[in-house]
Formats: sequence, structure tokens, C-alpha cells
Amino acid sequence: MDFAFTEDQLAIRKAILDLCSQFSEDYWLQKDRDASFPDEFYRTLADAGWLGIATPEEFGGSGLGITEAAIMMQAIAESGAGMTGASSVHMQVFSLQPVNLFGTQEQKQAILPPVAEGKDRVCFAVTEPNTGLNTTELKTRAEKREGGYLVNGEKLWISTAQVANKMLLLARTTPLADVKRKTDGLSLFYTDLDREKIEVRLIHKMGRHAVDSNMLFIEDLWIPDEHRIGEEGNGFKQILHGLNPERVLIAAEAIGIGRAALDRAAKYARERIVFNRPIGQNQGIQHPLAKC
Ligand SMILES: Cc1cc2nc3c(=O)[nH]c(=O)nc-3n(C[C@H](O)[C@H](O)[C@H](O)COP(=O)(O)OP(=O)(O)OC[C@H]3O[C@@H](n4cnc5c(N)ncnc54)[C@H](O)[C@@H]3O)c2cc1C
Repeated sequence: MDFAFTEDQLAIRKAILDLCSQFSEDYWLQKDRDASFPDEFYRTLADAGWLGIATPEEFGGSGLGITEAAIMMQAIAESGAGMTGASSVHMQVFSLQPVNLFGTQEQKQAILPPVAEGKDRVCFAVTEPNTGLNTTELKTRAEKREGGYLVNGEKLWISTAQVANKMLLLARTTPLADVKRKTDGLSLFYTDLDREKIEVRLIHKMGRHAVDSNMLFIEDLWIPDEHRIGEEGNGFKQILHGLNPERVLIAAEAIGIGRAALDRAAKYARERIVFNRPIGQNQGIQHPLAKC
């Protein structure tokens, strides 16, 4: 199997690195210090069409796949933007695959182009305080009513909810006691992040301050039937089409950060003079760098 990049893939990498070179270390440091979302970076990627890299062409994207998206995300992280830059656009790039695969033509037409253009910002609301990775136990309920669902519950660690206007939400529509398999009875919705019905509370964390993480308290949120993606009760299987590629992107981003760190360490080893010579002349410095 040939793992080499194609010319087109190399061109993506170069284009992203060129674009990211506009955003200096000082830019990222300032964003982190101010805990403010990197709007300029986000806008630049959106205007150049990169947010839609994996969105089908008929919905305003480039129609490329997970490999190209991973190359792009790796280059963003490697440029020095790190996890801050990558996670500011991460959700837009692949989390809407369930909409792409299971949404109706009308839903796709309404949802995908504004996300690819950077007009709509999406957060992804799955994790809950008491369930963690055990997603099938999630407690947020979407109770069926005529014409829609009434939603109540809590979500935890929801990234970008301070700046998002849309939300991809996983909630239980059939109680766990009434389903055959634990994975049944969850449903997926793409809806407005209505701040009258959802309190978004910032979580103070130890890093990545520019991209917010939040608790969501959802009280009597009304979601019309048209905002449900795919069949009722099938949400768990659908969401895996977003979560699985997301894991690939995160791995690629982590390698990008590793490359940025190695580059900095090698540069420092060349510049730092101790005992009248660069520290990089010592094997104790050279060997671990070479290993990395
Ligand atoms: C900065 C940040 C941003 C996030 N953004 C989002 C977001 O936007 N949207 C969203 O929905 N979620 C988000 N998350 C949540 C993230 O996806 C969860 O943290 C993750 O799903 C794990 O849940 P947990 O932290 O409760 O871990 P837990 O479920 O408590 O697990 C803790 C550890 O135990 C391990 N473990 C658990 N059960 C088992 C088992 N049976 N066997 C072996 N090991 C096990 C896990 O692998 C993990 O290492 C974010 C989290 C962070 C920290």
C-alpha cells in the first residue's frame, strides 16, 4: 500500500500552512490570554472555502474526504495554532456527517451551506455529567409532543457553545427501560442554540482558553419535528458517523502539535548558547530530538 501523499494532498497542506502563516505565535498567545475566540482565523479559513472541505459540492463544499480533512487539520495544528486553532474549526469540518448521510435533501440544503461558509457555528452536545463515555445512559430527554419534542437535560464539556448559534444534540426519545438494545431510543437533532431555554455556563480550564468549554442546562426547549435528523431512535448509530472521523482528525492534530513542538525544540537547541556553544551540540540534547 502506498502511503505517500498525492500532489493534490500536498497542495492542500501547503495552502493551509501558507494561510496559517498570517497568524503568528503572538496572535495565538494573545487569544489564549484573552480567552477570546479566534474569529479572524475562523473567518480566513471560511472565506477561503476550507470549512467545507468535506461537505459535498452540491451543498457548497469541496466534496473531499477524511484523508484531506486530516491533512488540513494536521497542518493547522503544525503551523503553531495547535489545539486552539484546530478545535476552533474542528466541529465544522466533520461533525455534520450524520446530517450529510441521514438528513433529508431539504435539511442538507438548509444546514450544510451556511456551515461551510462559516455563517452558522455549530456545537456538538453529546456528553453529560453523569454518563461520560457511557453514552447510551445519557439522561437528556426529548419527549414527543404534537409537531415536535420538549427537551430537558444537562450537557457537559460542550465546546464553542459560547459562540455557536446551532447545536447538534443527542437526546433520549424512548426511555431505556422500553428499548430492546441500549443503543436504541436515542435521537439526533440539529437545532438553534436557543439561549432563552439553554443556560450556557463556561467551564474554566487549564488550557485552550480561546476555545470555550461549557455546561448546558436545557429547560423546556422546543424542537420541531423538522429538526430531527433521520429516524427517531436511531441517533446513536448516526452520531458514530461524526464521532469516528472526529477521532481520526484529533489524532492528526496531535501529530501536528508534535511536529510544531519538535520544530521549536530543534530551533532552541541551535540558538541557546551555554558553555560558549549551542546546547544542540551536546548528544544528550541531539539524541532525544532525533528520536522524536
Ligand atoms: C476540552 C474538552 C472538550 C470537549 N468537547 C466536547 C464537545 O464539544 N461535545 C461533547 O459532547 N463532548 C465534549 N467533550 C467530552 C469528551 O468527549 C468526554 O470527556 C469523553 O467523552 C469522556 O467522557 P468523560 O470525561 O466523562 O470520561 P469517563 O467516561 O469518566 O472516562 C474516564 C476514563 O476512563 C476510561 N473508561 C471509561 N469506561 C471504561 C471502560 N469500560 N473500559 C476501559 N476504560 C474506560 C475512559 O477511556 C477514560 O480514559 C470534551 C471534553 C473536553 C475535556
